[in-house]
Order: sequence, then C-alpha cells, then structure tokens
Amino acid sequence: MTETVVRRVAIVGGGLVGMLAAIYFANRGWQVTVFEFRKDSRQLEDTALLSNRSINLALSVRGLNALKKPGLGLHEQVLGSVIPMKGRMLHLDKGRLVSHPYGVFGECINSIDRAQLLKLLLDTAEELANVKILFEHQLKYCDFDSGVLVFENHSNGSEVSQTTDLIIGADGAYSTVRSQLMRPVRMNFQQEYIPHAYCELNIPPVTDADGRSKFAMDPNHLHIWPRHSFMMIALPNTNKSFTCTLFMPFEEFEAIKTENDLMSFFQKHFPDSIPLMGAQNLKEEYFRNPKGPMMSIKCTPYNYKERAIIIGDAAHCMVPFYGQGMNCGFEDVFLLNDFLDKFNVDDTKDTNEFRESLDRALNAYTERRHTDAAAICDLAMRNYIEMRSDVVKPLYIIRKRIEGALHAIFPKHFIPLYTMVSFSNIRYSEAVYRWKRQGLWLSIAAAAGDGS
Ligand code: FAD
Repeated sequence: MTETVVRRVAIVGGGLVGMLAAIYFANRGWQVTVFEFRKDSRQLEDTALLSNRSINLALSVRGLNALKKPGLGLHEQVLGSVIPMKGRMLHLDKGRLVSHPYGVFGECINSIDRAQLLKLLLDTAEELANVKILFEHQLKYCDFDSGVLVFENHSNGSEVSQTTDLIIGADGAYSTVRSQLMRPVRMNFQQEYIPHAYCELNIPPVTDADGRSKFAMDPNHLHIWPRHSFMMIALPNTNKSFTCTLFMPFEEFEAIKTENDLMSFFQKHFPDSIPLMGAQNLKEEYFRNPKGPMMSIKCTPYNYKERAIIIGDAAHCMVPFYGQGMNCGFEDVFLLNDFLDKFNVDDTKDTNEFRESLDRALNAYTERRHTDAAAICDLAMRNYIEMRSDVVKPLYIIRKRIEGALHAIFPKHFIPLYTMVSFSNIRYSEAVYRWKRQGLWLSIAAAAGDGS
C-alpha cells in the first residue's frame, strides 16, 4: 500500500554544506528544516567576524559539479562571481616571482567569497516552498530512535523540540550531532591538531593613474610565499583586494609581541608584501585578527541506521592545504543524493520499505565515503609540507615537469595527483592509488635511464 506522506529531514548547521544539502533534499520533495546556531549572516555588516573562517575559498571541479546537479542556476551564478586562478605564483627570496601552472590544459581553480556563496545558497533555499531555516537555534540533544531533536533558541532563550524522519549533521568540525552519535554508534574517531595556526591579512586594491581601482598583483594566480617551516598565501577577491593567510607555528605567532617585532619579521621573510599591504594596515590586521587552529578529523561510520548521518566537516575535517574541505563537503551532498537514487529511496513507498531502503543507502554511502574522506584528509596533510617547502626544491620542480609532459602525451593514462584531486571527479582513494602506481613507473623509468 502506498502512503502520501511527506518525509521530513532536519539539517543541523546552515553553513555551506548544510545549505546545499537543504536544496538537494527539497528537490527530492522532502520537508526540510535547517537549524543554524548563528544569526543570519546576510543581516550582518562584517561577515568575516561572524564566520571566523577563511574569507575566500578555492572552488574546484568537485564543488562545481555538486552545484550543477540541482539545476536552479547555482552553478552559473557561482561561475559569474569567481576569479579563476590558473597556477601558483611563488614569491621567492628577494621578490623573485615564478609561476607554476596548475594544469597543462589551462585548468583553473576558482577564488570565491565565502559570505557571497553562503548568501546564494541561503537565498536559493529560502525561495523553495518546502525549506524552513531557523537561525539562532543551537542543537543541544537528540534522540535518534525517536527522531527528536532539542534546540536552544538563542533569540528568546526558549527550548524548541522537533521530530523528524532523518537527521543530517552538517554542523562543522565541532559537531554536536557527531558527539551525540557516539553514544549509540561504535564510532572510531581520530583528531589531530597541527602545530600551525592561521591569521588572515589583506592586500587592498591600488589606484592607477586614471583613478581606477586595480589588483596590486596578478589576480589569476594563487600567490604563495613558501618559507619552509611557514608560509603565506593570497587569493584574489572581486573587489580587487587579496586575502592573505599566514600559516605559522603558534610559538612564532606568540613571539611577535610588538609592532617592531612584526615589522622586522615581515622585513626578513616577506619584504615584497609590505608595500602591497601597507605597513599600517599590516599592523592593524595582524594584531586584530584571530590566530585560528587547524585540525584533521576522521571518523567512521557516519550514520546511525536510517535515522541520522553526518556530512561535511562534521564527518571529515581536513587541514586547508589542498583547498578541498568545502569541495569534499559539496561532493558528499552530491553522492548522498546519488545513493538515495541508487537504493530507490522513494517517499511514496510505505514507511517500512522507505526506512529499509534509506538504511541500505546510508550504510552504503558511509562505507564508500569514509575511504575517500580519509584519503583526502591525508593528502591535505601532505600538501601542508609541499606548499611551504617542497615547491622550491629542484627535484620537485623536475618531477612536476615530467608529470606534466606525460599527462600532455597520455591525458587519460597519466594524470598528475593535483589534477585528479582538483580537476576531476575520480574518487580520492582511486587518485591516491593511481598516483602511487604512476610514481612506481616513474622510478622504474628513472632507474632504467640510470643503467643505460
Ligand atoms: P561549517 O562551515 O563549519 O558550517 C557548520 C555550521 O553549523 C556553522 O554555520 C555553525 O554555526 C553551525 N553549527 C555548529 N554547531 C551547531 C549546533 N550545535 N546547532 C546548530 N548549528 C550549529 N575548503 C575548500 O574547499 N577550499 C578552500 O580554499 C578552503 N580554504 C580554507 C581555508 C581555511 C583557513 C579554513 C579554516 C578552511 C578552508 N576550507 C576550504 C574548508 C572549508 O572552510 C570547510 O570545509 C567548510 O566550511 C565546511 O563546511 P560545513 O558546512 O561542513 O561546516
């Protein structure tokens, strides 16, 4: 017998991943309620203060692919507001600049404003009749078997409860849904802080002779100042400024106590950036902006039966050095939807059948996704060393050139790791496997070359 019931999903966390999930589930015809702890970021003047996260992000193929699927013009609108970056621009000692393209076929990653992207997702979701977004609602507790969630409404201090068919935890690295899941689920959990922190700085636009505002550096590159044990990067913004991020061990940040300390540090390590930032601006930003920690989280499984699942940073938080955290979270949403299709999770089925198919879909998703999430968490950690140190080593540069040349000749059979991760939808674990196999062939070829 078929029932005409509307399936309900409660999404905890109205960040980037939670809002994309809301749009996907609304598209499936579910009744969606998003509970977000913070105030509506669209009402705030300084969105950077609210997010306490990076101001801009690198969006690549996996993220773009997930934005395409629900239609609604998301993909086109996003592409209209990004700045393509075709490679890394290395700022070496004495201000020497070297460009390393990301791909041999002109592939680009895209710089996008976090607040603008979140606004687009919030606006799109809000226009859908079956989506409700409740801000200032903080999840306190959930009972998965009965599908009951309890929130504190911070606007009036009241307690709010909601019953739902499915709970999605998209509540970020410090996820409450994940901690709650650890009670009924035998969850393996691994968390690692790195010794580095990050601090955001800013390079404002410059004014040309005609009074027009322009970028102070080439906007179509991701700029890197690699300094071995630390580094600074800069991504362009549409207002012609750059957001710089200084990654450095906590102790180094703590050693900079005065403006003089700061200026001598920058004179020594990043002298070419001082005139770009402006000394006064640098001092203000450095001492005002937070020094954020970075960590990597792996856990499994992601779901509890057909009742709850975690996605995005709640399931797999990674250090930001591969620019994949959000991309991977968007891909989670795309794949989860795909698994619901594959396992015929159809709301017109009777409740038992619906629950059984949802259970199979969530189990299959979690099994497959964990392998890939763990792979990208490890790659992100590895890229932490590559970006700040390896990029200037001659062997690294030679290897990159050989890989690029082989990819140009055999585009389907030899694909550099960065290309597989950032410019394809190849599973992260498969990318790692292929990269290791390719490395082996390169070593065999080099050994054969030595022997001849
Ligand atoms: P979040 O963005 O953390 O959103 C979680 C939401 O849940 C928040 O709005 C929070 O308020 C809410 N919440 C939390 N607890 C509760 C609760 N109890 N009840 C209700 N709501 C709750 N990724 C890229 O792809 N490319 C990049 O270039 C990139 N650069 C980065 C640079 C830096 C410095 C950092 C730190 C990260 C970067 N990332 C990047 C990673 C990216 O920011 C994250 O992967 C992404 O924001 C994860 O989105 P999310 O929605 O899962 O989590």
